[in-house]
Amino acid sequence: MDDCIFCKLVKREIPAKIAYEDDQVIAFHDIDPKAPIHLLVIPKRHITTLNDLEEGDAALVGRLQVTAAKLAKELGFAEAGYRVVMNCNEDAGQTVWHIHMHLLAGRSLTWPPG
Ligand code: 5GP
Ligand code: ZN
Repeated sequence: MDDCIFCKLVKREIPAKIAYEDDQVIAFHDIDPKAPIHLLVIPKRHITTLNDLEEGDAALVGRLQVTAAKLAKELGFAEAGYRVVMNCNEDAGQTVWHIHMHLLAGRSLTWPPG
């Protein structure tokens, strides 16, 4: 997707502070963090919303979560705790149209979310 900001980030056309990368997934620090630690874990392949996932994407989505858990351990906040969130469409507040998992940590997070 030529006009997708996260596809551009994957292609290194815009800069990002990258925390992890493999052949399918990339994780980087959110440009406008909502917690002391706020990473985004995304598939390298463009998928617009969670509604566009297909049966064959199950392993890829699992990989996002496994990556988030691995980063939580590596960055040292796994035991204290963290939250993962994926927003889908307007009511959830999705603003970037390439699926992404938010990984939030470093403070006590309130529940329920607003
Ligand atoms: P959403 O609201 O779609 O669930 O989350 C999109 C997230 O992407 C927001 O937290 C926003 O701060 C982040 N974001 C938007 N543009 C950029 C960017 O160019 N670079 C980085 N690192 N994060 C971005
Ligand atoms: Zn994209």
